[in-house]
Amino acid sequence: MPDWQELAERYLMHTAHRTPVTIVRGQGCRVFDDRNREYVDMVGGWAVTSLGHSHPAVVEAITKQAGILMETSNQFYTVPQVELAKLLVENSCGDRVFFCNSGAEAVEGAIKLARKWGKLHRGGAFEIISAANSFHGRTLAAIAASGQPRYQEPFTPMPEGFVHVPYDNPAAIMEATTDRTCAVLLEPIQGEGGVIVPDSDFLQQVRRWCDQQNLLLMLDEVQTGVGRTGTLWAYEQAGIEPDVLAVAKGLGNGFPIGAIIAKESAAVFEPGDHGSTFGGNPLACAAALAVLSFILENDVLSNVRTCGEQLRKGLVEMTRTYFFVNDARGKGLLQALDFQLDLSDTIIQAAIEEGLLLNAPRPNIIRFMPALTITPRQVTFALDTLERIMVWLDNVSTSTD
Ligand SMILES: *Cc1c(COP(=O)(O)O)cnc(C)c1O
Repeated sequence: MPDWQELAERYLMHTAHRTPVTIVRGQGCRVFDDRNREYVDMVGGWAVTSLGHSHPAVVEAITKQAGILMETSNQFYTVPQVELAKLLVENSCGDRVFFCNSGAEAVEGAIKLARKWGKLHRGGAFEIISAANSFHGRTLAAIAASGQPRYQEPFTPMPEGFVHVPYDNPAAIMEATTDRTCAVLLEPIQGEGGVIVPDSDFLQQVRRWCDQQNLLLMLDEVQTGVGRTGTLWAYEQAGIEPDVLAVAKGLGNGFPIGAIIAKESAAVFEPGDHGSTFGGNPLACAAALAVLSFILENDVLSNVRTCGEQLRKGLVEMTRTYFFVNDARGKGLLQALDFQLDLSDTIIQAAIEEGLLLNAPRPNIIRFMPALTITPRQVTFALDTLERIMVWLDNVSTSTD
């Protein structure tokens, strides 16, 4: 058998810190490596495989659509694109949809939408206020919007028109607002930033400010959307509605698709303003249609809430038991454990040995974002495995004291 990991080092650009597992197959919340070892997958393709790997409904939709029509360009009308747009509008606060192929592209499009809206409705205002520690993707505008200098520094100069303020701080947004401001762009929970959950009234205060000042409120729900936090969209739990919503990750269950969903008043693109060759192609839309329909018709959200609660309880328990566990936080099936020390690599490696795949957005934070269809037994397995690792770490740390 070829050494895939060695070949990857030779042929791929070095952009990822890869965990040393070569995954060849997946089923539900489990994956299998090239030696046919089984793992429970708490990474879920980075919050993407919402119905689990190779979900039959999605496989069927893709297979069927592949035999019918895969791509036409947006010069023509196609059926799956319209059906998906209708379903998204009927199940969100938005009125119109633009389809693209990734989260970064959805954010990029939302930025363009905000700038056009600023020209039309706010005297040419173009600045977008976003949060420190935020993550909005890797295109040039998306890293400019992201409040993380480490993603920007190798690529300066940055596109202008982005202002960063501390997250979960409405007053900072108010202070940063000027005549140049056209929009506020926020994640309802900062995912990549370490699963940072804001105060329950944060978004309400920002919504009120945006209404008073005539600013667009744009939510990046690329990670929190499509049921991840226990409601179809995280904004529902905040009791507000954004003007613009960026969606991607979980929508296609692994088939690349992104979307901008906007209120009528914010949907200011006209023919020629924006576009995408692949965006909204019949194959991607058929996949997403299967995902969204399945979630809505099978009450997947209640599984997110019960399994999320089970996971959360177990993680909170660890903060009480182990001195080196600082914090457990999250909503639904987006949860994190925060450690006093940079233990992520050690934990990920130990978990592999035990048949569990974990993700670390930071050297001291482990993030959990499994399939929304995970079973209580799989959550128990993940918690039991983690518990064993915690006991081991506890022993190691006390024996070296
Ligand atoms: C992952 C992510 C993105 C970027 O999505 P890509 O599909 O990787 O381009 C943007 N925003 C948020 C909140 C994300 O979690």
